[in-house]
Amino acid sequence: MGMLTPDDMENIAAICRKYDVPVAKVTGAQRLAFLGMPTEQLEALRKELNIPDKLPHTRNRVHYVQACPGSEWCKYGTGNSLALGGEIEKLELDGPLPYKVKVGVSGCRMCCCESWIRDVGLISQNKGWKLIFGGNGAGRPRIGDVVAEDLNDEDAVALVEKCLNFYIRNAKFKTRSARFMERFGIDELKKGLFG
Ligand code: SF4
Repeated sequence: MGMLTPDDMENIAAICRKYDVPVAKVTGAQRLAFLGMPTEQLEALRKELNIPDKLPHTRNRVHYVQACPGSEWCKYGTGNSLALGGEIEKLELDGPLPYKVKVGVSGCRMCCCESWIRDVGLISQNKGWKLIFGGNGAGRPRIGDVVAEDLNDEDAVALVEKCLNFYIRNAKFKTRSARFMERFGIDELKKGLFG
């Protein structure tokens, strides 16, 4: 979720110098991309960072969780978005996700993590979390649908899990949540979740 200590930054700088990485980019998904490095250094870098050649099958988990600094670090924050994002990253779902799922957790209504246009969006409000599902910010943008409001942390994570398991059970392979929701609709989703 993009949080770096001074030690992390020093280690990253040392690694970049050691492997001739000219520039690093913080990606939209709050990952770090090393750009422009000599390809012959790649194997050694993978080893040093303990990144296996083949990543294990983890499609039953969410990999793109963005969270803002939230109540822990931002004066406007009313919800602890970093902690909530961390809990969502730990979820083990019932099966492989139909397609990639991006999560944006914003600690207040200013919505710095663009929660309305993420597959799963969470926004902290005075009475708790608002949960949004089926947003997309790519070539065919879509504002997500509000699934529930005023959720405490535990209930928000549990409902995210339910939404994603429902999506797993009902969406065709390679269907993004935005297209799924266009066809399925918020009423059917709510019936499936709460009915
Ligand atoms: S969404 Fe709110 S709490 Fe999060 S970084 Fe933006 S202003 Fe701060």
